[in-house]
Amino acid sequence: MERPCIFCRIIRGDAPAHRVYEDERVLALLDINPCSPGHTLIIPKAHVGRLENLSEDDAIALFLALHRLTGSIQRAVEAPATTIGINNGPESGQEVPHLHIHIIPRFKGDRGGVVQSVARGYRRPSDEEMYKIAERIREAIKEASKRRD
Ligand code: AMP
Ligand code: ZN
Repeated sequence: MERPCIFCRIIRGDAPAHRVYEDERVLALLDINPCSPGHTLIIPKAHVGRLENLSEDDAIALFLALHRLTGSIQRAVEAPATTIGINNGPESGQEVPHLHIHIIPRFKGDRGGVVQSVARGYRRPSDEEMYKIAERIREAIKEASKRRD
């Protein structure tokens, strides 16, 4: 059998971690290689690689944990702000194939960037192109909602 991923091993208690929060569906732990003090990962207990494959119940639990933890993390490290993000799929830079939300405390003068800086090699599309992209996304959302019915 394939070895469980590092986050599954942490969830089972088979690998060490600085755990900060846990409930039935979710675990939060400090990132082992933090971008800033208090850099926290929130993970679903289910082994799911990507956000779109997460169950709706786990998605609710994950976002609720994010909502509950963000202010406390900021207060604990006296950070005035946070950047929150998911590397969703290998092409985005995801290295651990178990979904996780990064909560990265931010400080004045920390020389960090904004989330929009992660992909810049794209010219501004024309209005017509924007219309077509929006139309394709609306269609895809409709198809997905039909599949759920
Ligand atoms: P990514 O998959 O690119 O979103 O990043 C994975 C993150 O998981 C990195 O920031 C790592 O530092 C972090 N990480 C990897 N292994 C561990 C571990 N054993 N405990 C805590 N964090 C980890
Ligand atoms: Zn896993």
